[in-house]
Amino acid sequence: MFPPRTPARVQNGHRSIIPIYEFLAKYEGWIADSNGDYCDFALGNPQTMPLDEFVAALREATTPRDKSWYAYKMNEASSREIVCASLKTLTGFEYPQENIFMTNGATGALLVTMNALIDPDDEVVFNSPPWFFYEGMILNSGGRPVAVNADPNTFDLDVDGIERVITDSTRFIIINSPNNPTGRVYSPDTLVKLSSMLDGASKNIGRPIYLVSDEAYRAIVYDGVKYHSPTKFYNNSIMIYTYGKTLLTPGQRIGYIALSPRMDDLQELRTILYSSQILSGWAMPSALMQHCLRDLEKMSLDVSALQRRRDRFVAGLRECGYEVRTPEGAFYITPKAPIEDDVAFSDILAEEGVFCLPGSVVSMNGYLRASLTASDDMIERALPIFAAVRKKLQGRCRSDSKYAATF
Ligand code: PMP
Repeated sequence: MFPPRTPARVQNGHRSIIPIYEFLAKYEGWIADSNGDYCDFALGNPQTMPLDEFVAALREATTPRDKSWYAYKMNEASSREIVCASLKTLTGFEYPQENIFMTNGATGALLVTMNALIDPDDEVVFNSPPWFFYEGMILNSGGRPVAVNADPNTFDLDVDGIERVITDSTRFIIINSPNNPTGRVYSPDTLVKLSSMLDGASKNIGRPIYLVSDEAYRAIVYDGVKYHSPTKFYNNSIMIYTYGKTLLTPGQRIGYIALSPRMDDLQELRTILYSSQILSGWAMPSALMQHCLRDLEKMSLDVSALQRRRDRFVAGLRECGYEVRTPEGAFYITPKAPIEDDVAFSDILAEEGVFCLPGSVVSMNGYLRASLTASDDMIERALPIFAAVRKKLQGRCRSDSKYAATF
């Protein structure tokens, strides 16, 4: 499959993303074979039209105002200023502009951070079930991924479990709240516990263990839940943000890395991140996206509509016998599949035109992940299909077997 000289770390990274890669290939086939009236919950892609004001801002920004309009853009002062103001409101901290690194979304921000921080065989800890690319990205940057399972009942962080895996080689830990896929938003109590554990562990190993806070979904929380950035609780924090979720425009890439103003060795990190942005493939947002940022910062998808959709979907699934937790944030629900084999179950649904991600792709064996970025109409059309499929599988359903979902 690989030419003989492909570096091992690339092969390893590739192997770790094979489940999602295979799923994406299958999903493309489902879309191609459909007549267009499918119900698509597979990924976090929009199934409705983009915000009008988003389109207007882009249109407005295409007209050049000066000769540098489409010149190379890096961490533009105008962008940094907007981000600093936004972070002051979010965290209460004054961020110096030099702490902000503009990126092409959260994937770019994570990769720049990993390339900047990871030495060969450094360990990177993350919570499982995880976003499906963490492991591959860590391997690709030369590190060793270390997964720690979340609490199986609450999906909360297992801080003691995290402490147990920390070694002299631990470089950083990725915390993702609101969490993809579980929808869990971590409480201040959990974050305080995590922070004091990390402080103690950093002292023990004689260097800071960084907290990389993936906040892709921080604007998407439900039921008045207050979002707390993990970076408020721990000095050596690196924030990762993307506008792609808040605006539901993940194809127009813009996000950033923000170093906590309370960080140790700030100057050195600034320098490394700056070169890592370039060495990771000019991982900066396009000129156009930076020109729009002032407008983008004020926009958001309609979270209350998303919450209504969540409520309808969760209630509808429960009515027809599915076990499903109500997520506090992000835009996924994770019902238990009624049969043990979640890939087979996702295939059965796909035959009926309902597309969901099998849980095993995100280390949640026996679950499905369904995205709330689908339309309301898709949910109404899908619910009777979920009910009918479950009925058809009666006799094979998990309540009839000894099967328990795991992750
Ligand atoms: N982190 C998490 C938890 C995500 O769910 C995603 C996107 N699905 C990303 C990072 C990557 O975001 P972006 O599209 O901005 O690269």
